[in-house]
Amino acid sequence: MDIPRIFNITESAHRIHNPFTPEKLATLGEALRLETGTRMLDLGSGSGEMLCTWARDYGIIGTGIDMSQLFTGQAKRRAEKLGVADQVEFIHGDAAGFVSDEKAGVAACIGATWIGGGVGGTIELLAQSLCPGGIILIGEPYWRQLPPTEDVAKGCQASSISDFLLLPELLASFGHLGYDVVEMVLADQDSWDRYEAAKWLTMRRWLETNPDDEFAKDVRAQLTSEPVRYATYTREYLGWGVFALMARC
Ligand code: SAH
Repeated sequence: MDIPRIFNITESAHRIHNPFTPEKLATLGEALRLETGTRMLDLGSGSGEMLCTWARDYGIIGTGIDMSQLFTGQAKRRAEKLGVADQVEFIHGDAAGFVSDEKAGVAACIGATWIGGGVGGTIELLAQSLCPGGIILIGEPYWRQLPPTEDVAKGCQASSISDFLLLPELLASFGHLGYDVVEMVLADQDSWDRYEAAKWLTMRRWLETNPDDEFAKDVRAQLTSEPVRYATYTREYLGWGVFALMARC
């Protein structure tokens, strides 16, 4: 079981597989006022940077589940490196339908809401693992400005304009699901660059060491087209943020 190989190539050097810098991730952790010993669940935990750094900085404990064998291995090594391997565990597996026995104070899905079939389904899934009064974290794109045409949405690698909402609409949608938005940290164009542009050097290096790989043609094509595509579309039109939610009382 694994994710499509292209992601394991282009994001192999990423610690954060989203348009957040380490600073923004730390800002989010601080904003949540986490207490030592808080249990976290992270569905689609990637290379584990959120759980590992928050374990180090705020004393949280928790579990991450991710379908990429490569990223899960990197998460385990990161936990060792930061000296938090006794606080956080990483499981390689499909997080769809995953409900934890031990309820969490914070349940997160950051940039992987297809796991629950969309934002609403993912919130429902996470809520099943949450303590009463706990916080749900959702990382999700939104339109910074509405694409004028469907082609522009496709240029952003969306399947259609209707894939995403404008920020005020996204915030309102959480309310319609019965949740208060209690915090948020947003990406900006510079933090998007850290996510997207970091793939380019990774691709270039990979091509140099794997010239005869069956994927080399695809990676070459992506490296050639990605900088201009990204600057034309994603960088201008797509926003991204992490939203902290609490069920309305
Ligand atoms: N939350 C992490 C990773 C986001 S990228 C971060 O912010 O760094 C999306 C992640 O979802 C990838 O690591 C991918 O391997 C994982 N993923 C995709 N489908 C999944 C599934 N069905 N179950 C678990 N993880 C999945």
